[in-house]
Amino acid sequence: MSLTLDSKTETGLPLSGRHAVVTGAGSGIGEAIALELARLGATLTLVGRREAPLQATCAKLTGSGHGHVVADITDHDGIAQALDAAAKIRGPIAILINNAGAAKSAPAGKTSIELWNEMLTVNLTGTFNCTRAVLPTMQAARWGRIVNIASTAGLVGYAYVSAYCAAKHGVIGFTRALALEVAKHGITVNAVCPGYTDTPLLGGAVDNIVAKTGRSSDDAKTTLAASNPQGRLVQPEDVARAVGWLCLPGSEAIHGQSIPVAGGEVMAG
Ligand code: NAP
Repeated sequence: MSLTLDSKTETGLPLSGRHAVVTGAGSGIGEAIALELARLGATLTLVGRREAPLQATCAKLTGSGHGHVVADITDHDGIAQALDAAAKIRGPIAILINNAGAAKSAPAGKTSIELWNEMLTVNLTGTFNCTRAVLPTMQAARWGRIVNIASTAGLVGYAYVSAYCAAKHGVIGFTRALALEVAKHGITVNAVCPGYTDTPLLGGAVDNIVAKTGRSSDDAKTTLAASNPQGRLVQPEDVARAVGWLCLPGSEAIHGQSIPVAGGEVMAG
């Protein structure tokens, strides 16, 4: 019996019948992940604070039954209610992709408490909030996939983004601890760690470099791409394919890992 055939459902798509939530699905990496999971047959709920980008992503998804919910992942009770409402429409949440995040930079000595708290809250507490909301359902179902979009900044340090680095290192610590807790529950928990990826978030970093150094935007992008041994920016689809693979039946043994998608920039997860 082939693993591929064994892992498919009657529709022929491996994630058919699975309700997947992708946070931050209105742009960049989250949009690419939503497209990939829909391609693999999942039914999607897209989460973000702005409705128009979520609607735009939703319109591009293959398959049917998808929807979106406008919610802020930093609101512990609010996101739990939003995911509960989505589960009432599309069924128990089987796949959670904690992708929503933000990256702001400042030298450590000039990092305000507001910036520090903002980075910790959106990148780390937001991941906890969404996970906390879906975990009991996954444990009851004895099946689940949680993928946290961390960063190479969760594996190594970068100057001038200490709050972001601390938050993403926290996401990886959370991933590892949770993986041990749920290892016997049929749930896998992993982190995917992109390097510099061509998205609106990276555009913000490029604008910052341009403003602070007077260099051109192309020059700033070339410098960022040069940190990748492949000499290119990671594409959102590169990240999405790794996430899709982690969600497939047959990926059960990949658990508690932090997988760089960075062209070789960080060699060990
Ligand atoms: P992006 O295009 O800016 O996407 C971030 C998404 O998160 C947006 O759609 C945003 O939508 C949503 N979001 C932000 N705060 C939120 C909140 N409080 N509640 C709900 N949704 C929220 O950036 P991206 O590059 O695709 O980033 C996606 C993830 O990859 C992030 O976790 C980021 O740290 C990580 N990452 C990115 C790179 C890179 O170079 N681009 C590298 C490593 C890791 P709304 O504004 O509508 O809420």
